[in-house]
Amino acid sequence: QEAEKALVAQSAFKSLNAFISVPNADILLREVAEHEAAPAKGPLSGKLIAVKDNICTSSLPTTAGSRLLRHFTSPYDATIIEKLRASGAVIAGKTNLDEFGMGSHSTHSHFGPVSQVSASGQITSVGGSSGGSAVAVATGQCHAAVGTDTGGSVRLPAAYNNVVGFKPSYGLVSRWGVIAYANSLDTVGVFGRNLGDTRIMFDALNAFDARDPTSLSEHIRARMRSNVCMENGKDVVSLRVGVPTDYNIDELDTAVKNAWITTLQALQGQGATLVPVELQTTRHALSAYYVLAPAEVSSNLAKYDGVRYGERTSGPDGTSDSVLFAKTRGELGAEAKRRILLGAYSLSAEAKDNYFIQAQKVRKLVQDDFNKAFRKPNPLYPEHRTSNAEGVDVLICPTAPTPPPELERLRDQQPVDAYTNDVFTVPASLAGLPALSMPVGGNKSNGIGIQVIGQFGDDHLVFDVAERIE
Ligand code: GLN
Repeated sequence: QEAEKALVAQSAFKSLNAFISVPNADILLREVAEHEAAPAKGPLSGKLIAVKDNICTSSLPTTAGSRLLRHFTSPYDATIIEKLRASGAVIAGKTNLDEFGMGSHSTHSHFGPVSQVSASGQITSVGGSSGGSAVAVATGQCHAAVGTDTGGSVRLPAAYNNVVGFKPSYGLVSRWGVIAYANSLDTVGVFGRNLGDTRIMFDALNAFDARDPTSLSEHIRARMRSNVCMENGKDVVSLRVGVPTDYNIDELDTAVKNAWITTLQALQGQGATLVPVELQTTRHALSAYYVLAPAEVSSNLAKYDGVRYGERTSGPDGTSDSVLFAKTRGELGAEAKRRILLGAYSLSAEAKDNYFIQAQKVRKLVQDDFNKAFRKPNPLYPEHRTSNAEGVDVLICPTAPTPPPELERLRDQQPVDAYTNDVFTVPASLAGLPALSMPVGGNKSNGIGIQVIGQFGDDHLVFDVAERIE
């Protein structure tokens, strides 16, 4: 039933361009029926799950939104695809994205932009880069979805599309078979129409994977579970909610600010204590992110040379301007090229000390700021295991400074303008923290998301607190 409705929605909302490829409808419905007839494998049994197209699937192409990979089909499934299938999920299709995950509006795709129509009839940004996944969930084209979040790519589209988006702690969910953008930040995230569905998706994917060298070991997972210095979150009266005052920036839209205030008041009304928190280096986090992420891109995208990966353009590998390598690389989109150049520059001998090294230092300061703010110690640093009674259990702030902008207006934007959309999402990415974006208040169609950020490993607490807000 739900699957049939989703297929109807897929054709009704085709113009939004959420999917790059979908399986044959008959095969898909047969798969769903088989699950429905068999004993349920779990809460995802027979559910249609959409998958961002930078995650490898052997049954459908994996393009990462790039012209270079437009004909690529992976010979294997990513670990998370195996896990989804093992829980009975059926892959609804591969969703559209900014090329390799680089962007904030899902407009930098070889397959065209993703869009949505706002309540007032305007065509607006869906956020990015996992915009296709967010739209697919918001318009009922699937039950839930998977995306990736390097600097906000799950949370920003979740906010803009009025759905829930969750970025887990770095290293909890396997990235084996996920096409790398910036490895030190890349995190698989999940989308759902509500918190319950989103948590089920996270639980289905949260497991150690020996094939991913950054996957958190069982040993660290056990330490994270025992890192309960108090029963925080369980009892809202003991909950200490941090309000990062540095996030109250001039560019903050009034409606967003009001949603933030209402959320804080609601938690206070239930007995939680609000605590103003200083996260001073946050103002430098965005610049540091846009040095570090492109640096990693310049290295990660080097393999798309038409020999090892990517499609080779035809013609001779001649001399000077007809060099085949340059032609092949020329097929990358403008944003990908820009990031490669930025990254190559900041890693060059001339610029490295002033850019890359400085950005790494800022990243450490951002992490220190968060560790100082939280009541719980960071389980990754057992040597600093003192808890801080004055600290907070979670931080609450907006996901983005404004509601979704009109797509038309983005055309004359400078790249840096798009980067500023990520100002509230990149700090948690630089520190690898769990962060969730959810729609709030009575009007859940305004494209405004509120973010709940927890200490490293406090993923379930983030959900617990979000449930208090819902
Ligand atoms: N908008 C950010 C960027 O372009 C984040 C993207 C992401 O999280 N994949 O890098």
